[in-house]
Amino acid sequence: MSSGPNTVKTNALLLGVTGGIASGKTTVANFFEDLGAVIIDFDILARQVVEPGTPCFGEIVEFFGQKIVDRDGHLDRKMLSGIVFEDERKRKKLEGLLHPRIFDIFISRTNEITKKDPDAIIQAVIPLLFEVGLKHLVHKTLVVYVPRERQLERLIKRDRITRDHAVNILKAQLPIDEKAGMADFVINNENSLDETRRQVEELWEKLKQIQANP
Ligand code: ATP
Repeated sequence: MSSGPNTVKTNALLLGVTGGIASGKTTVANFFEDLGAVIIDFDILARQVVEPGTPCFGEIVEFFGQKIVDRDGHLDRKMLSGIVFEDERKRKKLEGLLHPRIFDIFISRTNEITKKDPDAIIQAVIPLLFEVGLKHLVHKTLVVYVPRERQLERLIKRDRITRDHAVNILKAQLPIDEKAGMADFVINNENSLDETRRQVEELWEKLKQIQANP
């Protein structure tokens, strides 16, 4: 795959997997993994870059103060997200500190994977792919879709939260229908897991074809 992301030059295909909260990104990524696709999860990268002792951790504490460090010496992510949720300037500052580090790890992980397997299909699971404007990092985008009402049901059940709380969380995200309209591929995860797995298998074949005939 020569065109697409400006990061890695191999035959690897990078699929950006996104969707709404609890829409089934992890579920779908695990199905793809069963077929041989490696996962790079941006939520995990975002936690790695702020582990105590990292340069990013130091810079964040310097800017936001000791109050965002918890008793164990880790970042209090809940407090930090509360602060930046209320303040656009601080949110931008935080993103400016986090994103370059996350991209560095992403690129080195991608290079490691493609060194071992130049024909790898790599899934970058990026919850805010469209919101943060990260399309350029991947060749193709996939939205894991569920209708809003089903999304609310699953979120309430999984996180044991009230309906009001779940509605508020969804309000802070780009509506899932809008995201579906921006993607190269959509998997509908509204029904059974079997039904979703079938769609994943179909898309896997398509991705293999795209890779063979870029
Ligand atoms: P997050 O945005 O929080 O990372 P996610 O998009 O990765 O979530 P999952 O964790 O895969 O979503 O799924 C959310 C919840 O819905 C989980 O409890 C999962 O078991 C359940 N779930 C996912 N797909 C289905 C399905 N097809 N049928 C029933 N339950 C499902």
